Amino acid sequence: MQRITILGATGSIGVSTLDVLARHPERYSVYALSAHSRVDELAAQCERFRPARAVVGSAAAAARLSALLQAKGLRTEVEYGEQALCAVASAAEVDAVMAAIVGAAGLAPTLAAARAGKKVLLANKEALVMSGQLFMDAVRDSGAVLLPIDSEHNAIFQCLPHGYGRAPEAAGVAKVLLTASGGPFLTRAVDTLDAVTPEQACKHPNWVMGRKISVDSATMMNKGLEVIEAHWLFGAPADLIEVVIHPQSVIHSMVSYVDGSVLAQLGNPDMRTPIAHALAWPERIASGVAQLDLTQMGGLQFERPDFVRFPCLALAFDALRAGGTAPALLNAANEVAVQAFLDQRIGFRQIDRVIAQVMDSVPHGAASSIAAVMAQDATARAAAETYIGSHAK
Ligand code: NAD
Ligand code: MG
Repeated sequence: MQRITILGATGSIGVSTLDVLARHPERYSVYALSAHSRVDELAAQCERFRPARAVVGSAAAAARLSALLQAKGLRTEVEYGEQALCAVASAAEVDAVMAAIVGAAGLAPTLAAARAGKKVLLANKEALVMSGQLFMDAVRDSGAVLLPIDSEHNAIFQCLPHGYGRAPEAAGVAKVLLTASGGPFLTRAVDTLDAVTPEQACKHPNWVMGRKISVDSATMMNKGLEVIEAHWLFGAPADLIEVVIHPQSVIHSMVSYVDGSVLAQLGNPDMRTPIAHALAWPERIASGVAQLDLTQMGGLQFERPDFVRFPCLALAFDALRAGGTAPALLNAANEVAVQAFLDQRIGFRQIDRVIAQVMDSVPHGAASSIAAVMAQDATARAAAETYIGSHAK
């Protein structure tokens, strides 16, 4: 029996994870669940999955959750705040941690799980973008097992040889081919993009996801963050990673080898497949996802990304090549800009301008410690807010 902590249980990935766990009660039990503010949803999850511990974002939310659980006669211990998140991610009772908090808020608890040597199921790509070297060092030093949940990285993981040692050349890897749907604005006239609404940006053609990653998909910053994520997970330099637009999202990514072979992982676009893969690895379990019917598919298309339409993708490649804390600056500026767009303080095309401005004005340094990374994160957020304040609609 594997005992699981889910960080971000009420989000899109968290709910899909619980769906897979519920199909295999003989294999998995839930040790802890976390949510930021959706207390009612978390209470319902606690009633169904009976975790020993639950963590929320504030004292007020903890008081409400405690009251709800007591009324149902549940004995789940309720805690709040970052230290509690780190505690449920690293507790001795836990075998695997699903890291599915969105954004920089996920960094500390995800790192705590890695340092404690857990099986880390990594959905929170922002943690790896911010502090890739420190994170991978923690995994190596503790002997943690890191399994990617992001569908592209999970696909690449499946296409690499067993025991792959983060050395692409030694494994004969010629290219890592990251597929991208291109999001909802792949064909929309570029000069109309500034008028798009948050609702339009969040309406992804193939995937149902949280709002932040949905906007990231529309700007293709999501793919940019994934390029950086692939760099750290697979030890691939920027030049070895190629983004291929594939609007159908059936091929989830590919690895091209020096002998001319290209291995791909295909499936219906449903995150329960990579979640089930990582949970059971190296075994396979049912995920609830329908089998792919190749005969029902129309054509599969592929094209090169347009960096004029998607400047965020170019900014991410720049940040990866610059190294140090540059990706942390990129990530922080993006988080602030996306929130400002969702709050309708800036237009869609201002997202990339905010990020470019922050990258230009804040000098990056060495990502030598988590404290150094967090300091740069704070500086970038402040610079982004200042820029937005003077350019708001
Ligand atoms: P979501 O917005 O649906 O859920 C986010 C979760 O994080 C919620 O449970 C929320 O309570 C929690 N949370 C938010 N802010 C928090 C804070 N400050 N402190 C603690 N908890 C907080 O997001 P999602 O779509 O499930 O994505 C989660 C992560 O997985 C992201 O990093 C995203 O990039 C990644 N991811 C998601 C998908 C997908 O299909 N949804 C695919 C690949 C990767
Ligand atoms: Mg992805």
